[in-house]
Amino acid sequence: MGYDYDDQNIFARILRGEIPNRTVFESAHSLAFEDITPQAPTHVLVIPRGAYVSFDHFALEASEAEIVDYVRTIGTVAKICGVDLGEGGGFRLIANAGRDGVQEVPHLHVHVLGGRALGRMLQPV
Ligand code: 5GP
Repeated sequence: MGYDYDDQNIFARILRGEIPNRTVFESAHSLAFEDITPQAPTHVLVIPRGAYVSFDHFALEASEAEIVDYVRTIGTVAKICGVDLGEGGGFRLIANAGRDGVQEVPHLHVHVLGGRALGRMLQPV
């Protein structure tokens, strides 16, 4: 059973230029843009240009060039937004996947959140 990618998802449409976005940074294999409903002063979504549903899909099937570009883009975004540990107060990365991860958009995206104290990650069960 493979990964089933829906090319009508909203981030695929952003990548095709069908829907506008507020770009923070772009590279050969990745795009970073502001979340439309920010949950922190910094809330940027980083997506690969390739058709990957989730982090596991990307980690297992993307090329090394795509993976390096993606990870470097996340680091660059943290720096551009001033939340990196070189300059800022830190950040949180979130990659929701699938039903249990409560993923809304089925194209891999890492949320880069920062600019305020974010509280604990999860509540105890
Ligand atoms: P998920 O729950 O899948 O991890 O997060 C999806 C994120 O995409 C949400 O934070 C939501 O606000 C954001 N989002 C949904 N539609 C759009 C859109 O059209 N443009 C932008 N920039 N963000 C979107």
